[in-house]
Amino acid sequence: MGHKIAVIGTGYVGLTTGACLSHMGHEVICVDVVPEKVDALNRGEIPILEAGLDELVNEGRSSGQLSFVLGAADAVRDAEFTYLCVPTPQSEDGSADLSYIRDAAAEIGPHLVSESIVINKSTVPVGSTRVVEQALGRSDVHVVSNPEFLREGSAVHDFLHPDRVVIGADDQSAAIRVAGLYLGLAAPLQVTDPASAETIKYASNAFLATKISFVNAIAAVCEAVGADVNDVVLGMGYDKRIGDAFLKPGPGWGGSCFPKDSHALVRIAEDAGYDFGLLKGVITVNDQQFTRVAEKIETAAGGHLDGVTVAVWGLTFKARTDDLRDSPSLEIVGRLLAKGARVRAYDPAIAAGTTDPRLGGIEVCADPYAACDGAAVLTVLTEWDEFKWLDLDKVAEVMTAKRVVDGRNLLERSPLTRRGFLVDGIGR
Ligand code: NAD
Repeated sequence: MGHKIAVIGTGYVGLTTGACLSHMGHEVICVDVVPEKVDALNRGEIPILEAGLDELVNEGRSSGQLSFVLGAADAVRDAEFTYLCVPTPQSEDGSADLSYIRDAAAEIGPHLVSESIVINKSTVPVGSTRVVEQALGRSDVHVVSNPEFLREGSAVHDFLHPDRVVIGADDQSAAIRVAGLYLGLAAPLQVTDPASAETIKYASNAFLATKISFVNAIAAVCEAVGADVNDVVLGMGYDKRIGDAFLKPGPGWGGSCFPKDSHALVRIAEDAGYDFGLLKGVITVNDQQFTRVAEKIETAAGGHLDGVTVAVWGLTFKARTDDLRDSPSLEIVGRLLAKGARVRAYDPAIAAGTTDPRLGGIEVCADPYAACDGAAVLTVLTEWDEFKWLDLDKVAEVMTAKRVVDGRNLLERSPLTRRGFLVDGIGR
């Protein structure tokens, strides 16, 4: 049987959660504080790029199971369950900023139905369930932690086919009610206490970041000793204890979660009296990776970047998303601009002429060839598939020198070298 659900925060996690829960038969009201976002959604326009999301949103709007409103008070008045999907950005000291969580909880507190359940899907430090309880100021409402593990780019798929559902609750009956919302999903369900649920989320992201930093460090070793990292990870991945998932060298990790969550976990550990040196090392290796890739580009340009035009393919933090938050590409581009380079970029998800302060100093072009026009070096910084199938003769024609730094080891080497390109990659 469907339930009445409110979702507070209609971003990557909230919109996916709302659309998927309505698809699963629940009656969902999504709330945001940005009027333009709510208006766009009410016109059926999806503000983010996420495969399959528009179909689910339109299905929900047509059936009347999914609606969008500004302001939380009305949305939660009938809700049996209220999800919190608001941002938890990084504060200046590295810890997670809980002000959005506190504000949202304080706003809905007076309007919640007695015995309803507030489900926190935002990524929050250990102890935040208590913070939510305090901000709600309601002893007759349960608070449950239910961390989200979806990946941007396949958010809908991941929500509907999760590897696991984790529920952290002190109250068994509340945990059982929340578990009931996910009936029909073929996934292991883990019920635990709130602190463990909150830690599972941070530990998972930190471990994934560690895998990438590890393989990037191995790539640096490969370059130093003359090994090929692609062959090395293939050989490592056959070991079932290691596996090949997420062992891919690249320009460093980024995005809306790994950077802030790694820093937050360092702080959580520190506050609890543990110096998480390993994770600090993982973060340092990642910063070094941005610099290493920028240096490769500088070397390819002949040792200096002042006045040199660099073509950049890929701006988003990974393929199949339009999300620029903490993108490795922008980290590297920042280093190039600081050295006086002129950057012309193309990204399938970022339209030419896009005005976004994060793109300051970059000429965003309408196609990949225009980005290469007059460039001395081409660099690939996001792994969009389409970059593999481009016309290399056209690229060679418009560039002033044939130099490629493939930050994702994405392009096939021989078609480039056959055309006289000098190619550098990561760990090869
Ligand atoms: P987002 O920035 O895309 O979306 C957050 C939305 O909340 C925005 O639309 C914002 O306007 C809205 N909002 C802020 N305050 C509000 C309020 N008081 N009432 C209603 N709406 C409000 O963020 P996101 O990427 O969806 O992340 C949300 C949380 O989920 C974060 O804690 C994040 O760490 C976590 N998370 C994100 C991902 C991911 O891949 N993006 C994956 C797992 C977990």
